[in-house]
Amino acid sequence: PYDMLIVGAGPAGVAAAVYAARKGLRTGLVTERFGGQVNDTLAIENYIGVPQTDGPRYASALQAHLRAYDVDLMNLQRAGQLVAPAQPGGLTTVQLANGGALKARTVILSTGARWRNVNVPGEAEYRNKGVTYCPHCDGPLFKGKRTAVIGGGNSGVEAAIDLAGIVAHVTLIEFAEQLKADAVLVDRLKSLPNVSIHTNAQTTCITGAGGKVDGIRFRDRATGLEHGVELDGVFVQIGLVPNTDWLKGQVALSPSGEVVIDARGQTSLPGVFAAGDCTTVPYKQIVIAAGDGAKAALSAFEHLIRMPVA
Ligand code: FAD
Repeated sequence: PYDMLIVGAGPAGVAAAVYAARKGLRTGLVTERFGGQVNDTLAIENYIGVPQTDGPRYASALQAHLRAYDVDLMNLQRAGQLVAPAQPGGLTTVQLANGGALKARTVILSTGARWRNVNVPGEAEYRNKGVTYCPHCDGPLFKGKRTAVIGGGNSGVEAAIDLAGIVAHVTLIEFAEQLKADAVLVDRLKSLPNVSIHTNAQTTCITGAGGKVDGIRFRDRATGLEHGVELDGVFVQIGLVPNTDWLKGQVALSPSGEVVIDARGQTSLPGVFAAGDCTTVPYKQIVIAAGDGAKAALSAFEHLIRMPVA
């Protein structure tokens, strides 16, 4: 068995693996797609100490860092189920979709999350060419330009307030009749001079020219009339879905499906820790995922050295 088995090799999982290996632990890292979300990222400008990189370059740096250590990397393998130890202090099992099973004394869950898509024409085509999902990451790229935010929940309204301070103008589009964000955020949003709000509005397409976004179209659901706005960027803010379906019933999940962790990354199951975008940690960012991966590995190490000697 492994001393530490890490499931998911994004920034959180790779950080955990490096920390585990540096403790001399027998470490396994199983993942569906090495690198995780950063593979889909263009510019990364907020990873501290690295002023400018891009997703593929950062993913290969993760791989190079991992290769410097003795870690069993099992790429292109999906975990299908987590099985708790038969008795306290026993081995936890991770069942793979391919039928295999891995056993470990401690497990770190770092399976990340994915942004919910709005699924309209133009979204996939202009992804990273004006269509984006992360205001903290990409807001500054639209300085002085016109943008839209799709989604009027807390994350959409927060994104619109954030962007309004950077970009020239924000158009917020919400499908429901009312914004669903907290009243205090809605009041703040409505007080801003460079924001237009459209509720009861269904986004119909994102348009582009010359390989980048040039506008958005939406249908007023009350009148049926379609409107178009010219702009340079669209922030889709309709939810982040954690990759935790395979954990249901095994560890405590929040109402939105995030693995519930404490300040040390401990889950509800002793010996099982979690880190990064799949957890309840606020703010989903590379620097946070990497830090939490290190933290979970150190917590798992502490757990191991406190286990009774067999
Ligand atoms: P992830 O990166 O999601 O990695 C999860 C890993 O788990 C993947 O390898 C996946 O294949 C694997 N996995 C999932 N399910 C299973 C399973 N059942 N079995 C086995 N493996 C599984 N953040 C920034 O800080 N700056 C940016 O500029 C930035 N830009 C972004 C741009 C885009 C387009 C996107 C999508 C995200 C961006 N982010 C950015 C967010 C950042 O990428 C994430 O916060 C970070 O990658 C989270 O790391 P993680 O390790 O928790 O999860």
